[in-house]
This record gives sequence, C-alpha cells and structure tokens, in this order.
Amino acid sequence: MTHIVAISPHLDDAAFSVGGLLAARARAGVRVTIVTCFTGNVARPTGFALACQLDKGLSADLDYMALRRAEDIAACAVIGAHAVHLPLLEAPHRGYASAPELFAARRADDMMQEPLTEQLEETIDRLRPDVLLAPLAVGNHVDHWLVRDALSAIDRPMLLWEDWPYLTRASHTPVEAVREQHVLSAQDRHERTVMCAAYASQIGFQFGSVEKMEAAIAQVREERLYDAG
Ligand SMILES: [Zn+2]
Repeated sequence: MTHIVAISPHLDDAAFSVGGLLAARARAGVRVTIVTCFTGNVARPTGFALACQLDKGLSADLDYMALRRAEDIAACAVIGAHAVHLPLLEAPHRGYASAPELFAARRADDMMQEPLTEQLEETIDRLRPDVLLAPLAVGNHVDHWLVRDALSAIDRPMLLWEDWPYLTRASHTPVEAVREQHVLSAQDRHERTVMCAAYASQIGFQFGSVEKMEAAIAQVREERLYDAG
C-alpha cells in the first residue's frame, strides 16, 4: 500500500495546507501519516509562551500541548490518518518572545536544527514513506523553516506544500516549480474543513471563527505541491 507521510511543523499545519489532498488519498486507500514536529510540553510556560495560551481563552493551569495533541488525533481520525508526535518544543518555548520574532531571523541560541534533523531522519526511516510532503515555509515562520532545512539536510525525495493560511496573507508567490495541483472536490473541501475545525483551540486566533474558516476554505480551489528544488 502506498504510504504518504506529511511532516507538519505544528499541530494543524498539514490539515490547514493539504487537508483536502490527504483526505482524497486516504479515501482512495492510501495510508496517510501526519508527523508533527513541535508538540512537546514545558511544565509551566511563562511570558510569551503562556500568553499564546491565555490569548486563546485557555487557563494557565491547562496542559495546552496535551489539548492540541488530542485535537490532532481527532483531526487525523476524520480521514483515518495516523498521528505521530515528536516531543520537540515550539518556538515560544525556545526563547522567541513575541509574535513578530516568530517570523523574523532564527535566534542565535536556537539549538533546534540538530535534534529536529535527527528525529525526522529516524522517523522517516522508520515510516518508509512512498511520498513525503513538507512545508515550503511560505510566511517565514521560524519553525516551518527549521523543518524545511532539516528535510533538506536529510535529502529524501519530497514535495512541498504552500503553507495556509499564511499563503493568503503573505501574497507570496513561490519560486519553486509546481509539481502537482490537487483540485479540491466538494468532499475534499468538506473533509479538510472538518479536519481543520478539530484544531478548535487555534480557530479563533487563525480565522476569527469556524464560519470564517469555512468561508476561507471555500475560496481554495486547489492545493499545490512544489519541487523541493
Ligand atoms: Zn505552523
């Protein structure tokens, strides 16, 4: 059986960006695994990391990453995908102290590249994908670039997706060559919407509401995959 492995930086990126394509492939009998890199916990987040939790209306004592891992498992269940969670810390837990810093240069003290590369290589070797999907890092989130750079170092055949919803905000046109355009069927769009809605803690922050997210997905005609270059 063909096996697609999607490498998602955060708990939501693969569904947000290529949920329709993954849904279509899963429906066709393809095995789908979503590996999410930055899903680790810190015991007591402070500063910006805590603010990222509080500004989503979640209390300080709630285990925010456990909630998001559970959301991811529910999202994967929509299409029968398997969820793999690497226990690495996302940028707000590595010293990035504000939203603009997440989209600026990598910090000199950010030591994530090496452990991320090691864990991704081990995971990909274990999962043995026929098709490897990963983010283009449209929008320039530091964690998305770390994933792209780690996969470049591992050097396996892969296709890169346009990071959504960053894509629409960045008005960014990728320079890489388009390899595949998956035009969304109504069923694909529906399943992508249901998957995305499972990341309930992120919807208000990313879109304002589930209705606005649905409206945004309704504007997406196709999901494009690019050569890694
Ligand atoms: Zn992300």
